[in-house]
Amino acid sequence: MRRKIQRLTPEDYAKGILQGNRYMLSRAITLIESKRSQDQDLAYQVFEKILPYTGNSVRIGITGVPGVGKSSFIESFGKMLTNKGLKVAVLAIDPSSQRTGGSIMGDKTRMESLSNDPLAYVRPSPAGAALGGVARMTSECILLCEATGFEVIIVETVGVGQSEIEVRNMTDFFLLLMLAGAGDELQGIKKGIMENADLLAINKADGDNQMKARQARVVYQKALHWFPLSDSGLPVKVVTCSALENRGLENIFKVIQNFKEKTQENGRFQARRQSQNTYRMHRTIKAELERRFYEHPEIRQALTEKEQQAQVGELHAVNVARELLNLYEQK
Ligand code: GDP
Repeated sequence: MRRKIQRLTPEDYAKGILQGNRYMLSRAITLIESKRSQDQDLAYQVFEKILPYTGNSVRIGITGVPGVGKSSFIESFGKMLTNKGLKVAVLAIDPSSQRTGGSIMGDKTRMESLSNDPLAYVRPSPAGAALGGVARMTSECILLCEATGFEVIIVETVGVGQSEIEVRNMTDFFLLLMLAGAGDELQGIKKGIMENADLLAINKADGDNQMKARQARVVYQKALHWFPLSDSGLPVKVVTCSALENRGLENIFKVIQNFKEKTQENGRFQARRQSQNTYRMHRTIKAELERRFYEHPEIRQALTEKEQQAQVGELHAVNVARELLNLYEQK
């Protein structure tokens, strides 16, 4: 017989989270990921309670094409941090789970040793959610992890499409992992992503690849001269590292710590977080409006017929959309 999980109050959740209870953290994240509005309402009540205890972490976004070594890097980097006694949470944004129904990231057992580390918490992205949904959930998970006491939050995304921008919009520091010897096009790195990075790290700088990695470092560092100055007010560096051999990771952490210190001094750290809050507000409004619209009983009833009208061109799709919106507004 399945035991029914007892329904908890917002106070229960908040208390557990603030005590550093990961089970409670996981349950709260499940609430956020739930499509039931009852669960979401509960989640927002939990938020109100934990919000004063959030913000005390450094939020690091990591991106790069599949195969560049993101999960290996996070595993090694995360272990290095937990060895220092730091509490590390890893969250993933994986829009591919929407497209394929499965997840590139979830296919393999990832970050096994970090997952088993008592100082770490690894949460894969929810399967089957659209990018906007995963992104919204992830920025809320960051806050929950902070309230649970995690000091370093790593948000990982595959280097495709819109997801990097989303991650950039929820983190303090954006790290782009790259490979030596592969052209930019081959790496699928858009100029916009490089422009938004706070640090470029050329991974796999080991074995025969070391020389190539060092050369690539010089080439990228030169290329960055032509880029506009980062909104952090600090120059963007290029470094080399090896996730496999644990090389260059200490240096990367030093760069991040120095970045945090300097941007807190020049006010850009706070400014980024503030504009991210505004962004999050607007995104929530958009998502919530969409949800309310599609869940409205009269809209649901009218939708199939309207879709058909739009499909066969009986009415122009734009007019059909406006009719439905008007119907919603009148309710
Ligand atoms: P992801 O797809 O970006 O998460 O990349 P993975 O972490 O799964 O790594 C892809 C492949 O590259 C795996 O076979 C790793 O063992 C290998 N790899 C990752 N980091 C390094 C590194 O620093 N050096 C070398 N030589 N191989 C690495």
